Amino acid sequence: MKYKHVTVAGSGVLGSQIAFQSAFHGFLVTVYDISDEALEKAKKRIADLKPHYRADLSASEDAVNAAFERISYNSDLAGAVAQADLVIEAVPEVVPIKTEFYTKLGQVAPEKTIFATNSSTLLPSQFAEATGRPERFLALHFANEIWKNNTAEVMRHPGTDSAVFDDVIAFARAIGMVALPLQKEQPGYILNSLLVPLLEAAQQLLVKEIADVETIDKTWMVGTGAPLGPFAILDVVGITTAYNIGLAKAQATGKPEYEQVANLLKTEYIDKGKLGRSTGEGFYKY
Ligand code: NAD
Repeated sequence: MKYKHVTVAGSGVLGSQIAFQSAFHGFLVTVYDISDEALEKAKKRIADLKPHYRADLSASEDAVNAAFERISYNSDLAGAVAQADLVIEAVPEVVPIKTEFYTKLGQVAPEKTIFATNSSTLLPSQFAEATGRPERFLALHFANEIWKNNTAEVMRHPGTDSAVFDDVIAFARAIGMVALPLQKEQPGYILNSLLVPLLEAAQQLLVKEIADVETIDKTWMVGTGAPLGPFAILDVVGITTAYNIGLAKAQATGKPEYEQVANLLKTEYIDKGKLGRSTGEGFYKY
């Protein structure tokens, strides 16, 4: 493995998980965020991951403590990336924030450092120029609860160097991920390119009163052998996220069927506090 030092920029939900997962697999990790206050929160968030690794991966107490010790914290960007072989960016999903971050990062990071974005919805080519090193930049996209849902979608943009692409795939494997190479840019990567149409189709069947929730899920599960149907998946994703996507689609297309979906999710679920698994009830009770 070519890399040893990894810097994770942005220490929120995903950044803290990426940092701990990398440290757990032996990498020396520096966490960067905008202030010392944010880094204090990160330390707590990262410490809170230890019991999950103990319970879900049967990791020993020594192993999780050693991982925690391999992480350092720095709110000065130049200092945080001084030794980095790889910087994984997990700052907010806001174009101007990411653009400004990459412009600054490109100026202070060592020449050799590779940059990877964890963005869910933005394409690496949007930021390639701002990095000042388009050939050493690509997307490395993780899923929430990275230690269990261990996909790493590695997506190159047209300017990414092939050796860099291969090295980042190797890194993803080295931190326990199932590495999934994407040879071209694709909004939503592979997973959401498959999942979003399935979930949308299920909601359309429901609002058109073709069948009820249980029947639609049962059809998918029995017919394909999948462990969950689309509405059970929506309960995991969260009804609020589904509503926001439906609403955006209704506004963008002006199509009444999307508005119907958004209305149903709002009145029957969100307004009644049924937000999915996180609240104990969504389309199903938990
Ligand atoms: P979050 O809001 O939990 O965390 C963002 C962090 O970035 C915060 O700690 C914030 O202080 C920090 N930050 C803000 N401005 C910054 C800057 N200029 N420089 C450095 N740090 C800065 O967000 P999140 O959910 O962890 O998402 C981060 C990225 O990961 C997004 O691009 C998102 O699309 C992607 N992602 C999120 C999920 C998810 O389930 N939450 C899954 C996959 C990918």
